[in-house]
Amino acid sequence: MINKTYGRLIAMMVTCYVTVVVAAPHWDHEEQEKWGAIEDPSQTVIPLNYPYAECSIGAHQSPVDFAEARIDNTRKLNDLEVWYDVDKPVFYNTGHAIQVNTSPDYKGELKIGEESFPLIQLHFHEPSEHAVGGVKFPAELHFVHVGQDGRLVVLGVAINVGEENPTMQTILSNMPATGGEQNPNTGGIQIDPASLLPSIHHQSFDYLSLAGSLTTPPCSEGVQWYLMMDPISISAAQLEQLKGFYTGNAREPQNLNGRVVSSTK
Ligand SMILES: [Zn+2]
Repeated sequence: MINKTYGRLIAMMVTCYVTVVVAAPHWDHEEQEKWGAIEDPSQTVIPLNYPYAECSIGAHQSPVDFAEARIDNTRKLNDLEVWYDVDKPVFYNTGHAIQVNTSPDYKGELKIGEESFPLIQLHFHEPSEHAVGGVKFPAELHFVHVGQDGRLVVLGVAINVGEENPTMQTILSNMPATGGEQNPNTGGIQIDPASLLPSIHHQSFDYLSLAGSLTTPPCSEGVQWYLMMDPISISAAQLEQLKGFYTGNAREPQNLNGRVVSSTK
């Protein structure tokens, strides 16, 4: 009996161990139609064996095509106040995108009304994920924030080709070439995420907002999206460098399912 209990305990520990060490199942953008059906062989219980099911069955998925949305510009919306600051971040090639992780003591945040959402990372998609009437921008930048209660808020900025952006160059030049690797930035290279915004003003951004999801597996919902109406620009050479890391790392627009998009104008 003791042996049996002991055996069960060991089995549980092994199970937990396996759960921890087995990475989430592989996915890629080429097969995005099948994300929801990807199985996790380390899980035998429904629905845990379909870790990305929300990608298929979620009703509030991102991105969307705004030409298909009902836009409501009659509501009084909160001002977005972007209070980003200079940081010495980590440059992280996730294997799906190039990403900049802010340092643990970073103070930059997005204020929405009275609420503050610290900036935890920013990353890039090529081409853009959000679209207007099927038309996409050359790229899209996502600033990811997390509130104290764990709520995610993403600020999206469309990227056009035009003037070179010096901060973009710092990011491109310090990004590891290999997926899964990070540059810990022991050299202390500084960037100001605010210099990747369309205006130097901290407020008065016009934006669209809607409830959505992560645009990569597990496509978790409960993400509040804010899309700035004005794009930023990077040079043609910088876009080519971005494509040298990842090209086509964009999810196609998802069904709005009746969602209303709020607009400041
Ligand atoms: Zn993103």
